[in-house]
Amino acid sequence: MTAKDRKCPAPNCQERIPRKYFCCRSHWFSISKPLRDRVLQTYTKGQEHNLDLITDAYILAHDEALDFLRDAAKPKPPFVK
Ligand SMILES: [Zn+2]
Repeated sequence: MTAKDRKCPAPNCQERIPRKYFCCRSHWFSISKPLRDRVLQTYTKGQEHNLDLITDAYILAHDEALDFLRDAAKPKPPFVK
């Protein structure tokens, strides 16, 4: 573990990940493919070291992906008949 590591942002996940990664591997693949593609496409190389490189499009995709993980972690409501 190095100082560059951080915790996976998904709720209740203790995985350590490199800073350039959005989240741990298992959570990453739980995110829908179109959303994953958007996070990747809007990522700027080196942005984890230089916040000025982060684009609005990335922040938007990042927040949506985070919402996705938080929603997925919520207990599912019982089926309503
Ligand atoms: Zn995780």
